[in-house]
Amino acid sequence: MGGEYQKITVTVLLSARNFHSMSEVTTIVTGGAGFLGSHLCEELLASGQEVICVDNFGSGQDSNVSQIRDHNRFRIIEADIRKLPELPPADRIYHLASRASPADFTEFPVQIALTNTQGTKHLLEHAVEHDAKMLFASTSEVYGDPEVHPQPETYNGNVNIRGPRGCYDESKRFGETLTVAYHNEYDVDVRTVRIFNTYGPRMRPDDGRVVPTFLSQALQGEDLTIYGDGNQTRTFCYVDDMVDGILKVMNGGGMKGDVVNLGGQNEISIQALAETVLQICDSDSGITYEPLPEDDPTQRKPDVSKAERLFDWDPTIDIQEGLQKTIDDLGE
Ligand code: NAD
Ligand code: UDP
Repeated sequence: MGGEYQKITVTVLLSARNFHSMSEVTTIVTGGAGFLGSHLCEELLASGQEVICVDNFGSGQDSNVSQIRDHNRFRIIEADIRKLPELPPADRIYHLASRASPADFTEFPVQIALTNTQGTKHLLEHAVEHDAKMLFASTSEVYGDPEVHPQPETYNGNVNIRGPRGCYDESKRFGETLTVAYHNEYDVDVRTVRIFNTYGPRMRPDDGRVVPTFLSQALQGEDLTIYGDGNQTRTFCYVDDMVDGILKVMNGGGMKGDVVNLGGQNEISIQALAETVLQICDSDSGITYEPLPEDDPTQRKPDVSKAERLFDWDPTIDIQEGLQKTIDDLGE
C-alpha cells in the first residue's frame, strides 16, 4: 500500500467522522421516493441530517417513504424538477430524479430527456445559489453498447443517440456535460457517480428491470422472460453497497467536478441470473425467450479501480445474498 493511498484513506475517514457529528446539514434528495433515493434518505436521516425529498411520484411510490414520512427531520416536496420548482436552501444535493427502467424509455422519452437535462440545470443553479455540494446520479448507460470491457471512466462510450435508449443515455451524458460546465464556470463542487445495475427491496415488480421482473415471475410460477439468447452480461450491485458508495463519494476528498464508476464486480449472463433466481426461489417456473430489444448492451462491467483507490469502496454483498434479502423483504 503506497503512502499516497494511506493519506487519502485517512482523509476520508476523518471527513466521514465530521459528517456524522454534524446535525445542521440540510440535504435535498431528488428522486427520494424512488428505489435508490428512498434508501439514501434513510441513511442520511440516520446520520443526523435534515432531508428534503423532491419527487413527482412518477416512478416513485408513497410506500417507499412510509417508514420515514413522519420523521421530524424529513419532509417531502412533491414537484417536477423539469419545471423550476421552488426549493429551500440546502447544503447538499443528491440529484437522483429520473426514470431509469428501459421499459419506460418508449412511453416517457421526452420526460426522461428533459429531467436529466433541464432538471439537472435547475439543480445546478440551486447549488450555485446556495453554495451547495451536489452529487449527480449518472449511469453505466453513458457507455452505451460498450466496445471496451470492463468500462473505465475514461471510456467515451458507444451510444446510439437516435435509438430507443437515446432519451436516457444521451440525456445523462448531457447532464454530465452540464456538471462539468457549471464546475468550470461557477466552481460548483459537483461530483458524478456512474451507477451500474443496482437492485434490492422496493423495486416495483412491474418496473420492467430484470431483477424485479424475474423475482416476481419466479415467485408467481410464471415463465421467466429472457430477452435474446441470455448471453448478454451485467454485474449486479445490492442497494446497501451502492448507497455506501454514493455517501463515500459525497463525503470523500479528490472528487470535486469529477466522475467515478460504482457497480458490482461479478459479471453474470442473464441466462445464469435466471437460473440463480429459479434456484433461490425454489421455483418450478420455466424460461421463455423473447426478442432482444434494440441497442440492448451485449456486455457490461464497471472498472471500479478508481472508487477502490479513492474511497476503499468495494461491494461486499454477492448476488445470492442480495437476492435472498430482496425476497425476504417481499415477505415482510
Ligand atoms: P426510480 O424510478 O425508482 O427512482 C427515480 C425517482 O425519480 C422516482 O421516485 C421518480 O418519481 C423520480 N422522478 C423522475 N422524474 C422526476 C422529475 N422530473 N421530477 C421529480 N422527480 C422525478 O429509479 P432508481 O433505480 O431509484 O434510480 C435513481 C437514479 O439512479 C436515477 O437517476 C437513475 O438514472 C440512476 N441509476 C439507477 C440505476 C439502477 O440500477 N437502479 C442504474 C444507473 C443509474
Ligand atoms: N432482461 C430480460 N428480461 C426481462 C428484463 C430484462 O432478459 O424481463 C434483460 C435485458 O434485455 C438486459 C438485461 O436483462 O439485457 C438487463 O436489463 P435491465 O432492464 O434490468 O437493465 P439494463 O442493463 O438493460 O439497463
